[in-house]
Amino acid sequence: MEKIQMTTPLVELDGDEMTRVLWRKIKAELIEPYVDLRTEYYDLGLLEREATKDQVTVDAARAIARYGVGVKCATITPNAQRVEEYHLSRMWKSPNGTLRALLDGTVFRTPIVVKNIHPVVRTWKAPITIARHAYGDIYKAAEYRVPGEGKAELVFTDKSGRETFRETIYDFECPGVLQGTYNKDTSICSFAHACFQYALNLKQDLWFSAKDTISKQYDHRFKDIFAELYEQEYKARFEAAGIRYKYMLIDSAVAGLMQCQGGILWACKNYDGDVMSDMVSSAFGSLAMMTSVLVSPEGKYEYEAAHGTVQDHYYQHLQGKKTSTNPVATIFAWTGALRKRGELDGLDALCAFAGHLERAALDTVEDGVMTGDLAPLCDTPVEAVDTDTFMASIRTRLDMRMQSA
Ligand code: NAP
Ligand code: MG
Repeated sequence: MEKIQMTTPLVELDGDEMTRVLWRKIKAELIEPYVDLRTEYYDLGLLEREATKDQVTVDAARAIARYGVGVKCATITPNAQRVEEYHLSRMWKSPNGTLRALLDGTVFRTPIVVKNIHPVVRTWKAPITIARHAYGDIYKAAEYRVPGEGKAELVFTDKSGRETFRETIYDFECPGVLQGTYNKDTSICSFAHACFQYALNLKQDLWFSAKDTISKQYDHRFKDIFAELYEQEYKARFEAAGIRYKYMLIDSAVAGLMQCQGGILWACKNYDGDVMSDMVSSAFGSLAMMTSVLVSPEGKYEYEAAHGTVQDHYYQHLQGKKTSTNPVATIFAWTGALRKRGELDGLDALCAFAGHLERAALDTVEDGVMTGDLAPLCDTPVEAVDTDTFMASIRTRLDMRMQSA
């Protein structure tokens, strides 16, 4: 069989620990036998980030901006313990944070759904994608522990130094707490554009939720920006695609979500997205069945699994023990990136291959061959298999599909 050719390289961002082990296996066993894989390789493994003073992360982000599509392995975000473990000269920042900042992107997370594992919420039939506005609000807040009696005010001074706004927040009669949060029109606009475009891509309804009834300036501004952009730029395209945009109060969105069938894109403010994405992923099954894609306002894409480096499995692996680590989300990161590359370059065979590999992975799980994270969630009890057995089962199914394709 002739290998599928690519015209533009994918930007490949390697990572750490158990997912780095999976990365090699996925490429060697599930992709390279069928695709003449072209990538521009960046090693974001912690040792290389240390050796390059994290320049490699910046270079990788620039490469994604240049080529348009990247695929990333999970990486360690150093903490004090990692600084010691890897003898780091600095506590390097989260690579995902750096990529998000450089690409000004929005993160979309979607669960991978299989027939024999049912979501905790009975009505959910199709995946729910969550878009999180990963900028500002409480994540960039100024905070103060109020020691006692005194007045807190909200003051704005314009560029010329003139005070243009002053309002009392609270006249404290006792100790308390105080927080100042902000967001920017430019960032909210990028977020809204990314959400409208992604909904058109998915051909799914878009919900945006906030609390504008209570937050009459702050959350209302989010609501207005979404409404204005929708009217001006997206309404006609949404109607042509047969999809809808609706604004919902966050509480009614939560209630509505519990009774919907799924198959929607839910755009959330920063904190709501942080919390709700964990709820949705665990309600659908396993963190190891959640994909994540970073989309920039210029239409650049970076695909990855939502989970981390699965550190405890890696330590077992280092001791020579077999692990039962689920590679599905990492496989879907590759297929997402290959399909997008295929769409951009007009390579139908590459898009079709992505579909076959995804189907082979889903069929494996649906045939009852599962890793340890999924086995306890299955309708009928099954025995968990190790990583290699699981990957070999996917390979067998993929071979059959490719031969009859
Ligand atoms: P994690 O790697 O996602 O793992 C948490 C737990 O979830 C694991 O211990 C495992 O549970 C289960 N799990 C996750 N993925 C799995 C898979 N593919 N197959 C089977 N089980 C899976 O999160 P963490 O332990 O909090 O973080 C480990 C490292 O990853 C940290 O250094 C963190 O900085 C990094 N991280 C990176 C990213 C990223 O690059 N996007 C995201 C999150 C975390 P059991 O132990 O019960 O089997
Ligand atoms: Mg969270």
